[in-house]
Amino acid sequence: MANPPPRPVTLPDEALDALIRVLDAIRHSAGLSRTEIAHRTGLGRAVVAQRVGELVERGLVTDEAVLPSAGGRPPRRLVLNASAGRLLVADLGATSADIALTDLGGTIVAHRAEPADIGDGPDAVLGLVEARFDELLAADPGPLWGIGIGVPGPVEFRTARPVSPPIMPGWDGYAIRERFAARYGAPVWVDNDVNVMALGEWRSGVAAGHANVIFVKIGTGIGAGLITDGQLHRGAQGAAGDVGHIQVLDDPTVICRCGNIGCLEAAAGGGALGRMATEMAARDGNPWLARAMEREGSVSARDVAEAARRGEPGSVELLQRSGRLVGSTLAGLVNFFNPSLIVIGGGVADSGDVLLAAIRETVYRRSLPLATRELVIKRSSLGNLAGVTGAAAMVADELFSLESVARWIDVGAPHDAARLGLSVAS
Ligand SMILES: [Zn+2]
Repeated sequence: MANPPPRPVTLPDEALDALIRVLDAIRHSAGLSRTEIAHRTGLGRAVVAQRVGELVERGLVTDEAVLPSAGGRPPRRLVLNASAGRLLVADLGATSADIALTDLGGTIVAHRAEPADIGDGPDAVLGLVEARFDELLAADPGPLWGIGIGVPGPVEFRTARPVSPPIMPGWDGYAIRERFAARYGAPVWVDNDVNVMALGEWRSGVAAGHANVIFVKIGTGIGAGLITDGQLHRGAQGAAGDVGHIQVLDDPTVICRCGNIGCLEAAAGGGALGRMATEMAARDGNPWLARAMEREGSVSARDVAEAARRGEPGSVELLQRSGRLVGSTLAGLVNFFNPSLIVIGGGVADSGDVLLAAIRETVYRRSLPLATRELVIKRSSLGNLAGVTGAAAMVADELFSLESVARWIDVGAPHDAARLGLSVAS
């Protein structure tokens, strides 16, 4: 069948709405029969058959035989044609960059990780991302459908611009979308790094199946992403989940990089752990920490976690203190929000059990019994891939939203950012 010429929408609104519901059901599964789709979407079987037919015809969905068949007509299942397009994604932390090429289902095809200091500014950091993107595309030159970026600061999601990010000098209001769209022509979405990590764990990790989740990242800083009633909760301006700047200490010597005093991340984050351990090494002549001090000139949170894993009492005490501070903040959030799952991720959290145990103990002791009756607290299952996994999910969700699909369905693919109404620098 010949491709129809580009024009706004051929499907009536109602049909398009049903098409998206069918596609969403298929995208968020490992394959469904037509009957299962009808069951999940609440649509009639005739409507499902029609919409599935259109999705297969447009190359977005594949109709596969399920093996093996026990005789008779083999059952069929519908799966997303994930290889129809490619996504480029990057998860930028304070000190590291994870960069990946994925398919439309979010499966990582290729991944690069390297140190990158976000404080070097947008030109240096995004230049590095572009160099890696170019390499990944050269190695796998499929059609590029979209780009997703996570950055370690608040982002206004609509415009894809960082808003007064405390640890990102030179990034305030920077036009990240316009930069990548001009270079690659593809539509671009940007969000806070913890939001994309939460999305990653929810779609493909330990939070799958939970509708109300708090994802906490404990790295150099501390932040949280929220899934509420089965949706990422960005808040009115995109600042939701910034729990690192809740005041936990009334100590004028604990100064946060946001400018306030006694913030959770200034008291308990990786930066604070490193600082306290460096002081401890100098003061107590602690052999473990002193050795790290000699090697690197200071002690990092990673050194603390490594020493704690080997039972060094000073390091265990530091991690327990951080865990209690994080835990008491989370206890307040649990009472307020009543999640069924808390996921703890980020570099510091990934490195041992002491911190997680202290968080758990404090949350269960300090929260109301009804709020913790079914509450589970788990470690991230995706680790340093949570961000790129979530960034791919973010892009796929936006590409396959009703609003976007209405703009590109008739040309077969979201060819360019301009078609999706996303600005491109001239
Ligand atoms: Zn702060």
